[in-house]
Order: sequence, then structure tokens, then C-alpha cells
Amino acid sequence: MEVKEALQEINQRMEAAKERAGRQDPVQLVAVTKTVSDDRVAEAIAAGVIVIAENRPQELVKRMERFQDEVSYHMIGRLQTNKVRHIIEKTALIHSLDRMSLAQEINRRAEAIGKVQDCLIQVNVSGEETKAGLSEKEVLVFVEEMAKMPYINIKGLMTMAPLVDDERIIRQVFRDTVRVKEQIANRHYDHVSMEELSMGMTGDFEIAIEEGATMVRVGSGIFGSR
Ligand SMILES: *Cc1c(COP(=O)(O)O)cnc(C)c1O
Repeated sequence: MEVKEALQEINQRMEAAKERAGRQDPVQLVAVTKTVSDDRVAEAIAAGVIVIAENRPQELVKRMERFQDEVSYHMIGRLQTNKVRHIIEKTALIHSLDRMSLAQEINRRAEAIGKVQDCLIQVNVSGEETKAGLSEKEVLVFVEEMAKMPYINIKGLMTMAPLVDDERIIRQVFRDTVRVKEQIANRHYDHVSMEELSMGMTGDFEIAIEEGATMVRVGSGIFGSR
């Protein structure tokens, strides 16, 4: 399928999911471009994509060099501290903040360039060992520390549901993530706004939207399987 047609279909499915949930607030489509050629990314941008994401910092830097200010750039994968300096200037949102050492490095580098870096904390409420992210218990402690970092703005949470067929399990993970987000929002920390929930990928973005996602990260649904 052409990128443009695939995008139309994803947008329609997003709208339908919003409608089922009775939602009127916006849901941002984040196009995950990992392993996709620049030409196909350009097609997606021409067809209306305004946010692209990569899970490797080197790849994100390449897209920044190629597409400049045509789109905004999100980092969604595990981020090594020594890579922060390469992406900090142009990255609008880091979805994968998952540890103190990374927060310290982001805070330090952001201060150096006079920026406040928007971040999401990656959580793993399902307790699945193979998944990255902080547990519910851990995130509640971690976010308290984030309130002390003036150059980091915590905008919300990111999660990945387990790769299972059982829709009820996936839905429960999203519900638990929403619950943790509300819990943190109710504490009203400085630099912690909790308005965003990045959850849902090609296989589960409709469930995520029904449960309250404000951002969905879709790769293969737009560009085909990798
Ligand atoms: C690859 C990736 C996605 C997109 O996955 P698809 O199944 O291709 O939509 C979303 N989030 C993260 C963190 C990823 O690494």
C-alpha cells in the first residue's frame, strides 16, 4: 500500500476509536520511521505527518539533518547517556526517560543550551521482565526527583503493552497506566504536568485511544512491515 493511503486508513481508525470512546480531545499520531527510507518518510510528510520518531539516536540525528524543520522529532527508544548531547537540541519529546542517570544528563545538557526538555517517563505496569520502563512503585519515587530538575519538564507517561493476543490484558495495562498517571497528576509536582499518555502501536493503538492515549506511535501500520 502507498504511504498516503495507509496514513488515511490509520487516521480513520484513530477517529473511529475516538468516537467509540466519546473523545473530542486531540490524539497525536507519531510516525515511527525506524528502518524506513528517506523517500518514504518524505511521502509521509507530504501526506500530513508532522511528528516522526526513531528508537536510535543516530537515526534520529540523520532524520534531523535530512528533514530539518519540516517535522518535529521524538526519541522513543532506550537512550544511552553519552548520546543525549547529539539529540538534545532538536528533540521535541523524549518518550523513554527511565532512570536517574539519564535524567541528570538530560537536565545538564538542556541547561547548557538554555532549553527545558520535554520528557515522558517510560513505565511498565505489567511487570513483564523483558520490557523496559519503571514499575508503578518505582515511578512514584522517581517522579519526586524529577520535580527537582528545572531543565526537564515531565509531560506524562509512555508505555508499551505486552505482545499478547488477549485484548483484555492489553487493555488492563493501558488502564493501569492511566491510573498511575492520575495518581501522579494529583500530587501537583513542579515541572510535572502529566497531560500526555504515549501508548499504542500498530497492533493496539485503537485500544490505547479508547483507554485515553493522547499519542500513538505507529510504524508498520504506515510504512509496512520492517
Ligand atoms: C517500533 C516502535 C513502535 C512502532 O511499532 P509498530 O508496531 O511498527 O507500529 C512504537 N514504539 C516503540 C518504542 C517502538 O520501538
